[in-house]
Amino acid sequence: MENVLSQFDSSKEGLSKNEVLERQKEYGLNKIEEKKPTPLIKLFLIQFVDILIGLLIVAAIAAYAIGDVIDAGVIMLAVLLNVIMGFIQEYRSQKAVESLKNLIVKTAVVKRENKIEQINSEELTIGDLVILEEGDKVPADLILIEANNLTCDESSLTGESEAVKKDIEDEVYMDCNILSGNGIGVVKAIGMKTHVGEIAEVVQEDDEDTPLKAKVGRLGKTLSLIAIIVCIAIFILELLKGIPLVETFMTAVSLAVAAIPEGLPAVLTLTLALGMSEMAKSQAIVKRLLSVETLGSCTIICSDKTGTLTENRMTVVESYFTNEDRTLEIGKLCNNATISNGEAIGDQTDGGILKFCQNHKSDLRRIDEIPLDSNRKMMTTVHSLNGEKNIIFTKGAPEIILDKCKYIDYDGTIKIIDAESKEIIIKKIDEMSGHALRVIGFAYKFEDDHDTEENLTFTGLLGLADPPKKDAKKAVDDCLQAGIKVKMITGDHEKTACSIARNLGILTTGRTITGDQLEELTTEEYLAIADDIQVYARVKPKQKMRIVEALKSSGNIVAMTGDGVNDAPALKKASIGVAMGDGTDVAKESADMILENNDFATIVKAVKEGRKIYDNIKRFVKFQVSTNVGAILTIIGTSLLNLPLPFNPVQLLWLNIVMDGPPAQTLGIEGAEKDLMHRPPETGDILTRKTLIEILISGLVMAIGTIAVFAYQLSIKSSESKAMTIAFTLFVMYQLFNAYNRKADSDKPSTYLYLAIILSFLLQLLIIYLPQLQIIFRTTSISLIDWVVIIIVAFTIIIAEKIMKRVIK
Ligand code: ADP
Ligand code: MG
Repeated sequence: MENVLSQFDSSKEGLSKNEVLERQKEYGLNKIEEKKPTPLIKLFLIQFVDILIGLLIVAAIAAYAIGDVIDAGVIMLAVLLNVIMGFIQEYRSQKAVESLKNLIVKTAVVKRENKIEQINSEELTIGDLVILEEGDKVPADLILIEANNLTCDESSLTGESEAVKKDIEDEVYMDCNILSGNGIGVVKAIGMKTHVGEIAEVVQEDDEDTPLKAKVGRLGKTLSLIAIIVCIAIFILELLKGIPLVETFMTAVSLAVAAIPEGLPAVLTLTLALGMSEMAKSQAIVKRLLSVETLGSCTIICSDKTGTLTENRMTVVESYFTNEDRTLEIGKLCNNATISNGEAIGDQTDGGILKFCQNHKSDLRRIDEIPLDSNRKMMTTVHSLNGEKNIIFTKGAPEIILDKCKYIDYDGTIKIIDAESKEIIIKKIDEMSGHALRVIGFAYKFEDDHDTEENLTFTGLLGLADPPKKDAKKAVDDCLQAGIKVKMITGDHEKTACSIARNLGILTTGRTITGDQLEELTTEEYLAIADDIQVYARVKPKQKMRIVEALKSSGNIVAMTGDGVNDAPALKKASIGVAMGDGTDVAKESADMILENNDFATIVKAVKEGRKIYDNIKRFVKFQVSTNVGAILTIIGTSLLNLPLPFNPVQLLWLNIVMDGPPAQTLGIEGAEKDLMHRPPETGDILTRKTLIEILISGLVMAIGTIAVFAYQLSIKSSESKAMTIAFTLFVMYQLFNAYNRKADSDKPSTYLYLAIILSFLLQLLIIYLPQLQIIFRTTSISLIDWVVIIIVAFTIIIAEKIMKRVIK
């Protein structure tokens, strides 16, 4: 050990602050360089690389070539506007996604100047002493100078997932997981000099598309395809009618621009990313965009008890001793917590016990430990008795301890434990657990050749109270209102779990089951009752997997919490894996969401935010797609009716800005619907057949109204310019009313949406009445009567919406 330490110029006390600073200067930070974000100028230029933009530019050049300077200028302006809009959207969503990545800070526990502290793992440097615990992610390449039953999962490097045993002087590599045991390592290499650093460029993954994004993307493509076919058809038809080539070309291209929802993916990402930062404010860090969508459709939350529903502040409030002195001694020594300024540091169960036992006088030297694990539910330490036989202290789940006890210690008199004393103890356990206490049993033995945790001698019980969190009951109520079932999964005793679950409203008319009972059930038997089980007690982590699978198989979207190494598979399997902020790195890595405050109520807040985002996505998808469909149908209709086209290219480009621009954007940030948490969860799909039919109907209403008014204007021999102005304005008004249709029924005023609508309306007035703009847009002033007609006809989209809502109900 000494020579390993000296090899890195370190010592048992760790580095001094000065050494750390010097070395950081010399070796840099412990950071894996991420792919650089796209530079701004490139992001801007990329916007031009788009078929539509390309075609627009070609159209502008063609217009210029035939001397149509105004049109050429306007089209170039439209190109610029489109590019800027695309750039801003993309930039904002890139920024938002990036800032979310920074929310997850990796930490490491180090020993420096003989003090143990938690630091940001970027600050690690060569020679630092790193303390490793079960569930930690190794923060740099280390050489072990201490190792207790340490095993490591190196699959991130080797691809092989079995546990590798590690001893002193072995190397453990950055980003591998500690599966069990603990140890101390000296930092050998950091950042890009580590093993992962060297292969980092290979493994850097791209952000995956979420299913929703993929789906919306597909819809966009389908729509584009239809639009392009229509445009080509129109192009040919108009040519056949003898309209000049360049003009026809411009019309076709502008129509394509208007009919394709090219802004959709960017608004989608932005809305999701903004939602994520909103959740981060309430301490829920969502790691993937995907989980934001899934959260909204969550139907079941499976929650831990300790620390999530309860405070994890344990206080001994009841006790039962057959030998008080010995129980206190075990409590004090078979314990890994420390007390500093009255606060317990470390495992809180240990902390509560230590506070109760700390005045006991005994300081036997500990020589070995079998750590607590969630399967055994016991912890054992071995102590030396001044050269005599070693003594073994065990504490843990009382019925398990009792099972392992052969003797009982009545104030120093040891007897074989008989049925009668067992019964008294079991009664005590039941009584204490019935008071919602976590009961811990205590036992010891002198070391012999046999298994350490067998043939123990019983000494007593302690009952620890752990108060429920203050918002937990309300959060459970909120879930029930929102049609989300809450199930408690705990390693604790059935009675303890039930009392707490009952107090919180989790256990109502359903049943409870223990891990052992669950083990007995066949899959069919379990599935038959799974819905009805509200509390799972004395569960082993691997059983969580079975629970998730069963619940998911009946079509549920399951959120499940966890914190330990053993929870990782279940967290991965769950629709939404939720890790605790102070859980292990392994759990955090497998999870989709991290609760910084470890609080159940935060999950519910996140679900609410998820539902809001889901609603808002639905809003702008419906809005944008229905206006695109409306535009296509209008053009197809007029063409089939052998009418001239109702909109000219410049007008179409303006329509596109109204449709993809501010009104659509502001729909993404609408407030929460009033009934958001009073309605059952919706399952996933935004683009259901129902929605598509609604979109089609809205599009039809707009197309029919526009064509009818346009045809009427032509039939009363209005000038073509006037007929077009009226049709164009009507179509814009349709969009504005259509956006209004999508407004949230919320307590938060739709200020931005209204502003966007008013702004678009004012601009439309300018386009019609400002002489300079009249020239550009080829519009003419229209009369009050025309306005009355436009408003009344456009209003049909609001009536149609109301009828559709009624029919759906
Ligand atoms: P939970 O699911 O509530 O988080 P845990 O897995 O933390 O439950 O604990 C399960 C059981 O393990 C407890 O009911 C208790 O009997 C036992 N246990 C918990 N902490 C300790 C400890 N520090 N020492 C001994 N036994 C413990
Ligand atoms: Mg726990």
